[in-house]
Amino acid sequence: MCKCSRTTRSSCPNNPVARKPADPKLKAAFDEMRAIYAELEQRPLQRDCQLRGQCCHFRLTGRTPFLTLGEALFAAQGVRASGRKAIKPHPGGACPLLGKNERCTIYAHRPFGCRTHFCQAAGGMYPRKHIADLIQRLETLDEKLGGDGSRELEAAVADALEDW
Ligand code: SF4
Repeated sequence: MCKCSRTTRSSCPNNPVARKPADPKLKAAFDEMRAIYAELEQRPLQRDCQLRGQCCHFRLTGRTPFLTLGEALFAAQGVRASGRKAIKPHPGGACPLLGKNERCTIYAHRPFGCRTHFCQAAGGMYPRKHIADLIQRLETLDEKLGGDGSRELEAAVADALEDW
């Protein structure tokens, strides 16, 4: 449902996200997301992720990533690229994007939090001071797209899929 509560988000004329992906505003949003993730990869923060997948088991960790709208749209693009039109809750309370093989099904499109939060065995979460500027860019993009700020992963991605 759209923020105006009169219609679905996808059909609301006030909702910029309802526009087609060819919309220049959405294209610019995807360009910015790619640029943010590319910039993050250039940061010299050593971590030793062994792809254990533990951080994707939200029920076990008690932590769930929150996504800005740009992240959610980019993740939704990854879901679509994998041939799905919707996501289903994980039966074990893990991320709905975790595959049966314990690997992320949208790895190249995974959200910012999945790129900056690591388990203790891998070296722990990135210090905020090293990524504060990138978080600011995510928030600026969220505002430009008419987002409501960060939202829990499953709801954010499900809505992004519905709104396309
Ligand atoms: S999006 Fe991918 S990396 Fe992030 S929690 Fe879900 S399965 Fe794990």
